[in-house]
Amino acid sequence: MVVEISIVYSKCELCKACVKACSYGVFEWLDDIPVVVNAANCAICLECMKNCPSKAINVEER
Ligand code: SF4
Ligand code: SF4
Repeated sequence: MVVEISIVYSKCELCKACVKACSYGVFEWLDDIPVVVNAANCAICLECMKNCPSKAINVEER
């Protein structure tokens, strides 16, 4: 199983909620934007999607 995590930057409000919500170190705050740095660690808890105010994150299993 492969997990793909994407951030739609045109929707992102730069609130950092995704970085704080993920307990698995998938996101990092780099150069003032959230970046997916470790998708392989994703536990598919969907907390990032639930906490994103602008629905800018998609987590998909392939
Ligand atoms: S689904 Fe859960 S583990 Fe995966 S990136 Fe989002 S918050 Fe992190
Ligand atoms: S939670 Fe959503 S709006 Fe906030 S920084 Fe992350 S992707 Fe952007």
